Amino acid sequence: MPELPTFEEAQALVLAHVRPLDGERVPIGRAAGRVTAEPALAAVDLPPFASSAMDGFAVRAADTPGTLPVVATIAAGLPATRPLAVGEAMSISTGGVVPVGADAVVPIEYVVQHDNNVEIADGAAVGAHVRPRGGDIAAGAVVVGTGVRLGPAQIGGLAAAGVGELLCARAPHVVVISTGTELAAPGSRLGPGQVYEANAVMLAASLAAAGADIETLPAVADDESALRAAVERGLAADVLVTSGGVSVGPHDLVRRIEAGLGVEEVFWRVAIKPGKPVSFGVRGETLVFGLPGNPVSSLVGCELFVKPALRALQGLLEPLPRFASGRLAAGLRQNDARDELVRARSRLDHDGVVLEPLSGQESHMIATAAGADALVHVPRGKGELPAGAAVRWLPLDAAG
Ligand code: AMP
Ligand code: MG
Repeated sequence: MPELPTFEEAQALVLAHVRPLDGERVPIGRAAGRVTAEPALAAVDLPPFASSAMDGFAVRAADTPGTLPVVATIAAGLPATRPLAVGEAMSISTGGVVPVGADAVVPIEYVVQHDNNVEIADGAAVGAHVRPRGGDIAAGAVVVGTGVRLGPAQIGGLAAAGVGELLCARAPHVVVISTGTELAAPGSRLGPGQVYEANAVMLAASLAAAGADIETLPAVADDESALRAAVERGLAADVLVTSGGVSVGPHDLVRRIEAGLGVEEVFWRVAIKPGKPVSFGVRGETLVFGLPGNPVSSLVGCELFVKPALRALQGLLEPLPRFASGRLAAGLRQNDARDELVRARSRLDHDGVVLEPLSGQESHMIATAAGADALVHVPRGKGELPAGAAVRWLPLDAAG
């Protein structure tokens, strides 16, 4: 039997089949979590005018030290009506427009006010407490480059620089289908032999957080014509994600039905544990993922293969999962044929993250996995990683 691809090889195959989606203009108020499809440029100089960094007095540095008459009051948004003349001071608030003629602000803490005068004991430096126009960014300069997911810092920077809307990658349309005659809707009463549907809700939650526009179809029984109809519908999306029915049992119909509908399989089965029977194919521009039905296998397959594809579709510069570094709290035996992703709970100690593997690592144990916030990568091998060993791990709470 030919060797199965490693998960890194399988990820490379997925990314090789992704073509980034085109862009659409998105208002800044709705752009959080979206990915830029072109550089977003500052519409104005920022600050747009020389502004005061302090509450105090706008002066000419050359007039300090000295006692100066206060000839006007400048509040933020209410500029002075005339320039500052030699020998004058103007009261100014933080964010106020430094008047023409002034070149420094003396903070209110450093002056003595009496009658309508201000007494300044020390000499001010030219430019002191003045935020120069364009000191943050100049109009036309790049605020956020291409391929960046917009978080709070980017949204704030764009808004301040006058960007009212910007070009972002279209949100990938993802259809999620769970398959299995045994599946019952969460909250319903279980019949004989039934289990609650977990994967579609789990995948929808995960992929929505990764920027997808999710459409979950009702769970489909292991029935050829019902499955064919659902898959056909899913193939109209940018991404079709199914769960279940990709193993070798008589009721595992998904791959055959997809092949019949023109899906070209790129790989089936990867040397990972859990999640080995995962499949990936394409039909036209549609990416087609077949995740195994065991919920933990679906969870792992989603993190390793589906989410990177979504990031790449949105044009993110680094679509692969970002492994972090940590140390094992307890030893773990390696699997000699497959890289393993072990559910663990992370905690901080004095020199970094420590990962406590959970007991109950079988691929159906999704309720046990609910106590995990990390997937620890245990490379294949014949030995054991001892307690304290340095490992790579994926945070499970990560959006995007
Ligand atoms: P399969 O990959 O279809 O052979 O399913 C493997 C195991 O996962 C079986 O025990 C199924 O009952 C279970 N399973 C499949 N799909 C789901 C689902 N959507 N939610 C919960 N368990 C599932
Ligand atoms: Mg099944």
